[in-house]
Amino acid sequence: MQLRPKKTPLNKKLNMTSPEQLIRPEILNMPAYPVASAQDLIKLDIMENPYELPEETQFELGQHLSRLALNRYPVAGNYPLRLKMRTALQIPQELELMLGNGSDELIHLIIQACAREGTCVMAPVPSFVMYAMSAQLNRLPFVGVPLQTDFSIDMPAMLSALKQHKPSVLFLAYPNNPTGNLWPEDQIAQLIKASPGLVVIDEAYQPFAETSWLPHLLEAPNVVLIRTLSKLGLAGIRLGYLIGSPQWLKHLDKVRPPFNINVLTQATAEFMMDRLALLDWQAAILREQRIILFKALSHLPGVIPFESHSNFILVRVPNAVAWFEGLKTRGILVKNVSNMHPTLLANCLRLTVGTPEQTALLIYALQELAR
Ligand SMILES: *Cc1c(COP(=O)(O)O)cnc(C)c1O
Repeated sequence: MQLRPKKTPLNKKLNMTSPEQLIRPEILNMPAYPVASAQDLIKLDIMENPYELPEETQFELGQHLSRLALNRYPVAGNYPLRLKMRTALQIPQELELMLGNGSDELIHLIIQACAREGTCVMAPVPSFVMYAMSAQLNRLPFVGVPLQTDFSIDMPAMLSALKQHKPSVLFLAYPNNPTGNLWPEDQIAQLIKASPGLVVIDEAYQPFAETSWLPHLLEAPNVVLIRTLSKLGLAGIRLGYLIGSPQWLKHLDKVRPPFNINVLTQATAEFMMDRLALLDWQAAILREQRIILFKALSHLPGVIPFESHSNFILVRVPNAVAWFEGLKTRGILVKNVSNMHPTLLANCLRLTVGTPEQTALLIYALQELAR
């Protein structure tokens, strides 16, 4: 049976106001965030850790989670978890910690808090797409300053853009996604010095970079750092964290939805803080695989891999569309990033580093395509 509302004056009026008439035009014109389906494919597209928890740890976690009071709201401000993370992750006493539903949410909250009229958000491009997307959702213009062809920062362009546009937030992904490289510390320091607003150092790939801006965080007042447990091996629980001075966090925390970290995530993260060695060990395997994959890529004719400090490698191939499809036919899903920047990323694929078995299969498939 079809439901057909009676025509009354009221719903006649409602019919007139379609979503297209009500929703902001910039959102109507926005594409939805693309997430590829990976059914039956080896998933090397979005930088997940390929390892699941060992069976006995799974069982123990299950027992732990089964005892939670799911009828209760999460603990306000995530206090016990923050305390535990502070110790486990060695956050200095002078710095405060704020948790987000993934660092995606933190990016959004930072921009929301700083979205004064007439300001803008800036980042080098290509970089993480959420910076531009969050800016747009918060009605701020996004100014992207192109990297050079080797993905180093164009310092004169960046310094003059900072002067001209005076962004309220500058994002620097350290290492950068999708290029995988780390920019030199002295350049970052120079950009921080030249920035009129807040500088956010995004360390999503810190477990693979083996370096951090954390030791320098107290040197300048207008810098915060964001990290995530996603790339380390817990993408499913959605937990990101922001480290910064109490002066910043006391205000940023007001924008945070009060119960943004759910009970299951809080408990799982607390549980895993006692088992970080396991995740660190997996990260070490992946760093090793990155070296193996890079070497193999640099021996392939027509293929140019770019040096990476993360758990993925950006690679230029003769034809990104054909190679993406070729890998897919061979059961491997990667990310074709060539549309993320018209020139700088031409014919580039982003390969997430997987297990030794997955790396071997990937190399074999790429060798076939290069023939
Ligand atoms: C993956 C990624 C994030 C988002 O991480 P979540 O915590 O899963 O939301 C943030 N920044 C960069 C640079 C990333 O690559």
